[in-house]
Amino acid sequence: MSWLTNFVRPKIRALVGTQKEIPDNLWEKCPGCNAMLFKRELEEHLNVCRHCGHHLRLPPDKRLEMLFDDGKYTRLPIPSVPADPLKFKDQKRYSERLKDARHKTGQDDAIMVAEGHLGGMKTIMAAFNFAFMGGSMGMAVGEGLVVAAQKAVEAKAPLIVIPASGGARMQEGLLSLMQMPRSIIAAKSVKDAGLPFIVIFTDPTTGGVTASFAMVGDIHIAEKGAQIGFAGARVIESTIRETLPPGFQRSEYLLEHGMVDIVVTRPELRETLIRVLGLLANKTTGSKGRKATHLSGPVPHGARLNAKQR
Ligand SMILES: [Zn+2]
Repeated sequence: MSWLTNFVRPKIRALVGTQKEIPDNLWEKCPGCNAMLFKRELEEHLNVCRHCGHHLRLPPDKRLEMLFDDGKYTRLPIPSVPADPLKFKDQKRYSERLKDARHKTGQDDAIMVAEGHLGGMKTIMAAFNFAFMGGSMGMAVGEGLVVAAQKAVEAKAPLIVIPASGGARMQEGLLSLMQMPRSIIAAKSVKDAGLPFIVIFTDPTTGGVTASFAMVGDIHIAEKGAQIGFAGARVIESTIRETLPPGFQRSEYLLEHGMVDIVVTRPELRETLIRVLGLLANKTTGSKGRKATHLSGPVPHGARLNAKQR
């Protein structure tokens, strides 16, 4: 026994000990190809798998940083909303879930609204955070969309909304459903002011979000391979008792069926937006004879406008 306890056990302990020193959050498994991806490298590639091109989810701060010129933006405050008005409880209290999500994400709720410049043009963006209770749309998210729309109208700037959401926040019941017409009215106010309202579908855009503001954009851009739909595929299959076609509810399928205008990879997104906004700005300013914007021609593909070019 002495040989085992004095010699073998310390060796095993040392071995296990060194393995424990390696943090387990350095790697992430790609849901597309199961490859183990080094997190830092993955972040450098905008959370796109370099093996199979699968687009993993991107937190809203990284999203805004990636889209705005020079990665610079100012966050807009969102008015606070009543916390847990229904005193909702399932396996866990809603107030507890909120607390956990806030702790996990460092955000107040599932939306981040910011202003900045995109291709030199003042732009308002609202990005969802799927990590915050599945990006669900409750009162705070509704409030965020209203703030974003009001700011766009006030600044005469285009509004870009980037959903990543499972839909309504069931813990807020009817109050959550009321955000659907509310977000539609917010989107309409931007359109009524003659300003572009662009929606970027990211994985996933589903439920009450798809059934409201997300489907009324002037231009619908989808990230490659994103799931976009109302009810989940399994629910539909069991309801209609039919097998759904391959690729159903994915960006490419929606493009083929006319629900989406453009499908892009994440690295192409910023330049695509600059091109689209440039075209829209020229069209509105040109046809009404107003002063032309600084974006005097279509932005060449792959061009990154710096301060001098603006
Ligand atoms: Zn992959």
